[in-house]
Amino acid sequence: METSFDVIVLGAGPAGLTAGLYLARARVKALVLDTGSAGGQVILSHQIANYPGAPEISGSQLARTMLKQARAFGCTVLTQAQITAMDLASPLKRVEVEGEGTFTAKAVILATGGRSRTLGLESETRLRGKGISYCATCDGDFFTDKEIVAIGGGNSALEESVSLTKYASKVTIIHEFDHFQAQAWAVEEAQRNPKISFLMNQRVLEFQGGENLEAVVSQDKVSGQITRLPAAGAFVFIGYVPNTESLHGAVACNERGEILTNEALATNVPGVFAAGDCRVKRYRQITTAVSDGTIAASSAMEFLR
Ligand SMILES: Cc1cc2nc3c(=O)[nH]c(=O)nc-3n(C[C@H](O)[C@H](O)[C@H](O)COP(=O)(O)OP(=O)(O)OC[C@H]3O[C@@H](n4cnc5c(N)ncnc54)[C@H](O)[C@@H]3O)c2cc1C
Repeated sequence: METSFDVIVLGAGPAGLTAGLYLARARVKALVLDTGSAGGQVILSHQIANYPGAPEISGSQLARTMLKQARAFGCTVLTQAQITAMDLASPLKRVEVEGEGTFTAKAVILATGGRSRTLGLESETRLRGKGISYCATCDGDFFTDKEIVAIGGGNSALEESVSLTKYASKVTIIHEFDHFQAQAWAVEEAQRNPKISFLMNQRVLEFQGGENLEAVVSQDKVSGQITRLPAAGAFVFIGYVPNTESLHGAVACNERGEILTNEALATNVPGVFAAGDCRVKRYRQITTAVSDGTIAASSAMEFLR
C-alpha cells in the first residue's frame, strides 16, 4: 500500500469523509484513517431526518453513501486502523499504523469526533436508539405527544428539555442534586414551562423496556424512595467527551479536551487542522461536521500550496 500522501485525515465520520472527498476530488492524495468503522456516530442513528437531500435515511445507509462517494473520487480509506505512534509537529507528519507501516503527509486533518457521556448502565446500552437518545435536535421529533424524561442539570440539559416540549406532551427532568448547575435564566425558563416537571436528588438505577423504552427507575438519594416513571423516551444530557485523548496534547485543546481552531480550522500546529465534533463548537450535527470537513480540506489545500 502507498505510504506517502499529501494529507492524512484521522477519522472517517461525516467530517473526515467530507474532507477526504474534497481533497480527492481536487486531485490531492488523501488517506482517511479510522480506528473503528467508517461513518462515525452516524451509524448509531436508526433514522436521520435532518440531513438535507436525504430524507428518512438510516444512519448506516448515509455512512455507506458517504464512504462510497469519497472512494469514488480516489480517496483511500483505511478502517480498523490501530494507530501506534504519531508525529504531528514535524513538517512531514507521520502516523504509524500496526500491520500497515508508517504513513507520511505534509498536512493532517483531525476529525476524530466525540461521544456523549453515558450513565454507564447496562440497560442504557441495550435501549440506546430504542427510546434512549443523547440529542434533542436529532430525535425530539420521534416523541411527539409522548411523555419523556430528560436526565441532567446543566445548561444544555435544561435548554434541550425546553426545546423538547415542542414535541413531547410532558418532560420530567431527573437530576442527581437538589440544585441545578445551569445559569439562572436557563433554570427559570425550564421552571416557567408548564410541560416540564422535576424529580431532584435522584440516582438513575435502570431503564426498563423490551423492544423499546417503557420506564425509567430512579432512587431518591436522601429518602431511598424508588420511583418508576413511565416514559417513551429518555434523553441523557450529562456531558460530551471529544475523542482527543489519543492525541496526547499534540495540539492545543480547551479544558474539556476540545481542539482549539481558528476560522480556517487550523490548530496551533502548522499544517494540522481540525474538523467536526472533536473541536470547540456549539452545535454538533452532521451538517456542521460536513461543513467543517469542507473548510478543513480547503484550508489544508491552501496550506499545501
Ligand atoms: C445516536 C446519535 C444520533 C444522532 N443523530 C443525528 C441526527 O439525526 N442528525 C444529525 O445531524 N446529527 C446526529 N447526531 C450527531 C452526529 O452524528 C455527529 O454530530 C457527527 O457524526 C459528527 O461527525 P464527526 O465526523 O465530527 O465525528 P464522528 O461521527 O464522531 O466520527 C469520528 C470518527 O473518528 C474515529 N476516531 C476516533 N478517534 C480516532 C483516532 N484517534 N484516529 C482515527 N480515527 C478516530 C471514530 O471511530 C469515528 O468513526 C447523532 C449522534 C448520535 C450519537
